[in-house]
Amino acid sequence: MLASVASLVLSLASSAAPADFDATFTGKTLRFDYYHSGTAAEEFVSLDQVRLEGDWPGSRTHLLDGTNLGKYLFVIVDPATNQPLYSRGFASIFGEWETTGEAKKIWRTYQESLRFPEPKKSFQVVLKKRAADGSFREIYSALVDPLGRFVNRSAITPRGQGFALFESGPPPTKVDLLVLGEGYTTTEGNKFKSDVSRLVGVMFDTEPYKSHRNDFNVRAIQVPSAQSGISNPRKGVWRDSPLGLSFNAFDSDRYVLTYANSAIREIAAQLPYDALIIVFNDRKYGGGGIFNLYATCASDTEPSAYVFVHEFGHSFAGLADEYYTSQVSYETLAPEGSEPWEPNITALTDPKNVKWRDLVAPSTPIPTPWNQASFDRASLEYQDKRQKMLAEEASEDAMEALFREVKEVTTPMLQSEKYFGKVGAFEGAAYQAKGLYRPEADCIMFTRNPTTFCKVCSRAIERVIRLYAE
Ligand SMILES: [Zn+2]
Repeated sequence: MLASVASLVLSLASSAAPADFDATFTGKTLRFDYYHSGTAAEEFVSLDQVRLEGDWPGSRTHLLDGTNLGKYLFVIVDPATNQPLYSRGFASIFGEWETTGEAKKIWRTYQESLRFPEPKKSFQVVLKKRAADGSFREIYSALVDPLGRFVNRSAITPRGQGFALFESGPPPTKVDLLVLGEGYTTTEGNKFKSDVSRLVGVMFDTEPYKSHRNDFNVRAIQVPSAQSGISNPRKGVWRDSPLGLSFNAFDSDRYVLTYANSAIREIAAQLPYDALIIVFNDRKYGGGGIFNLYATCASDTEPSAYVFVHEFGHSFAGLADEYYTSQVSYETLAPEGSEPWEPNITALTDPKNVKWRDLVAPSTPIPTPWNQASFDRASLEYQDKRQKMLAEEASEDAMEALFREVKEVTTPMLQSEKYFGKVGAFEGAAYQAKGLYRPEADCIMFTRNPTTFCKVCSRAIERVIRLYAE
């Protein structure tokens, strides 16, 4: 009697467990490439190709994404049982572009990729988009037969030079971070190596990465460019570089993205990866980061290492910018009054239940008072100066001197806040001075001053590390 109850409990437990990896998947990686087209008002998804990559580098246990991050979510479904086999949240260039002014006027198309372990049997790809209330709604689905003739199974063409910075263990139980080099010529291979080791070194001196170094493998690939540097349209500088990286994404001077998704995927597929950072060989300040896509970072600026860590916060953990005093050309936010999905900002519609409430001490008021007016005065003065200098095409050295000045003024200002170092809800976050709140007075996602993430960002990063490393 006792034995039969025990076996019943066991069978219930196993039926609720995620799919058995080896029974369900081949162990290879499949890539679903598609075109995401539209305007601010409508969007369409169309198949490009299904592509076989190498061994699956991701987790074999965390197959379903429970983090609830991202503007989009894709789910691989078994059509025979309608059970989800694999899912991941993500954001995309289209998802940012559709909030820009240009999307109100013209149509555009961006290529995107979904990567997942290759199922042994036919499966359904379901793409969902987050609605204003925070729930996901299906926008596209397709049936794929992995055994059919329409899966591109050609070998990945070797390109460039790949190497490991450090390896801690087998890819399925580690975060596999792949750094791609852009704008380095054949004679600048050693510069790429030293840039990468410097930037990765700072990242792993920063918590929570420092304590989790053993959860990571870090590798790099450099495909040589014909010329040094990347495209800079506002200066008339154009480069036909292998990854297609350029300044001035969405007409924002220092925002660096590439639309050459296919090129990136084919180069990256040479080594195992869960996360991508592109380091570009340039003296001009810039970068970018999109959740579950990639981060970009200039190699040769004074704050390069800071930018590397900040932008990877966006692309790896879905962190929002906590700053609000400088302008961007896109809106990544939930509609007014609804709660953003990013883990480190809140609309505070229910102050008693702020989403990081377990980190708030009972003695810290919500919202948390801080001297926003004096911080804003100093920031606006600096923004005016910066705009003037940009208009006058000031040198990178002069801009960096201004960055240092701002740091010297705002660091003591923020550190003297009564609730500095405490988790609360500080008004002013994600490009809005009012109505959005950040967790601490300062954070790597707020200013260039600190060398630490706030406790909420740090915990959000650790959660994503576990998604890949367990
Ligand atoms: Zn933070």
